Amino acid sequence: MNDYQSERTFFSQSLKKEVEIVQQVANDAFCNSKIIAKQRIFEGKKIEVLYNYAPIGKLQFLVVSKEHRTNFSDLTSEEYVEASKIIQTLCAHYQKKGQNIAYIFHKSGKRAGQSVPHWHAHLIFSSSKIQELFGWIFTLKSMFIGITPLSDEELSKRVKELKTELVPLLT
Ligand SMILES: [Zn+2]
Repeated sequence: MNDYQSERTFFSQSLKKEVEIVQQVANDAFCNSKIIAKQRIFEGKKIEVLYNYAPIGKLQFLVVSKEHRTNFSDLTSEEYVEASKIIQTLCAHYQKKGQNIAYIFHKSGKRAGQSVPHWHAHLIFSSSKIQELFGWIFTLKSMFIGITPLSDEELSKRVKELKTELVPLLT
């Protein structure tokens, strides 16, 4: 390959990569400021906590990086530490309130069922054993087929209530 050809290959490859990133961000809910504004409960330094628009039970949160990171391996250590601290604080809070069953999971890659190509951890709390069993079935089911979204009104009501309750703990 001569210099010209290799330069051309280099530029067409970088352009292809750019296009891929632009496409990813375009259908990426967590890089969409309108969606974030609707669902955000807490904004940290590098990490934010959102309420799921179609929650499993009543308490399903999404812990996401503010900057675009596709996979878990793309997170910086600062983001990882902040996300972990937030998750621990929320777990401790809900444990005290009797919502002591917690599901904490994240998926990397489309084939693992990662629906939004922007890293996010799911955080689900519930209280009773029946709900635990139900929760598992529901969680597994919803991983594959999704569940019904809340109305805008109900969503903003829940986000407002949770902000009042959780922002003082996380600040
Ligand atoms: Zn993103």
